[in-house]
Amino acid sequence: MRAVKAIQQHYTAGPEILQMLDQFRQMLNECVRIGLAENVTSLKSLSTKAYNQLATYDVMSYYKLCAISKATGILRNYRKAKRKNAKTKEPYAHQLQLTTCYGFKIKTIEKAISLPFKPEEPLSIPLNAHVLRVLSEPNIQTRSITLTDRQLSISYAKEAEPIQPRGLIAIDRNLDNLTVADSDGQMRRQNLAKATEIKARYREIRSHMQRNDVRIRQRVTGKYGRKQRDKVKKILHHASKQIVMRAKEKKFGVVMENLTGIRKLYRKGNGQGRMYRGRMNSWSYAELQRQIEYKARWEGIPLIYVNPHGTSLKCSICGSKMKPEENRTLKCRSCGFTVDRDVNAARNILARGMRFVPIASASEAMVAVQRRPVDADELT
Ligand SMILES: [Zn+2]
Repeated sequence: MRAVKAIQQHYTAGPEILQMLDQFRQMLNECVRIGLAENVTSLKSLSTKAYNQLATYDVMSYYKLCAISKATGILRNYRKAKRKNAKTKEPYAHQLQLTTCYGFKIKTIEKAISLPFKPEEPLSIPLNAHVLRVLSEPNIQTRSITLTDRQLSISYAKEAEPIQPRGLIAIDRNLDNLTVADSDGQMRRQNLAKATEIKARYREIRSHMQRNDVRIRQRVTGKYGRKQRDKVKKILHHASKQIVMRAKEKKFGVVMENLTGIRKLYRKGNGQGRMYRGRMNSWSYAELQRQIEYKARWEGIPLIYVNPHGTSLKCSICGSKMKPEENRTLKCRSCGFTVDRDVNAARNILARGMRFVPIASASEAMVAVQRRPVDADELT
């Protein structure tokens, strides 16, 4: 299976690169304007309409094609958003950002990446040791680069050999923690309270700014929001890395609830209002899933998504409905089993996942999981 990753590094943009980025932004806005005026969104018709009008820009044709292709994406998203909300503002690119899959070269000996700039006159950005090391791993192909005025991101791909899973790791994501249940019987909990705390603080600061001038607010929330996101991302990277490493070592697959699992975070008893729960967590839940997904693919680890319905209150031993008790525990009305609710949820997710994989070598714990009675509504 094809796996894709990206690596970033900071750099200082020289005057030529800044000029190139600015020209790219202008071309992009020009293409978007043409697309809106002519009402086209397909790459072919936008190329026909816009390419000649970009003749006034003194840049390599690589970037003109990139601008047109990027503009089609923006126009498509705009059309989609407009259908949902007629008041959607017309798109305009403010940020200096350029993505290209053509013309660049990684120069290992020079320790740099070269970008087309003028004919026979490429620009070069030095690459740091970490980036060079990652890109020199065997079987790697670079795919595209994204350049802003301070960051360079290189996306690369490889063909990953899928592993034959010997078991599964089930993940239950909660507001403050990640509970992991393995099919060999091991359990683990990872604290994510710090991520929740960062988001809570951010929201509070933002709410205090709301009376100020709109432009200042946008600028501050933009920058501040990005910083907070980066912090949360870092915490999630740590968590997702550990899960994927664990799966790799054990040769296990990973099972998660599919994205509608966000709804579970809305459940009562988490101590927050509905708005709070929703906004705070949908992003970080999706981000964690995205990270686990691409990291697992890279290692050839199979991923399974299961329906989240009923994973929280069903007894993971007998399948009956459970009753919430004190301290986040649940008690089964039928078999009397008392368990931490996150552990119970992770076990239910594991049991659902087990039905999707032919396991290479079954351990006792896995057999026990498979023998559990299954309710009809689970079989979706
Ligand atoms: Zn029970």
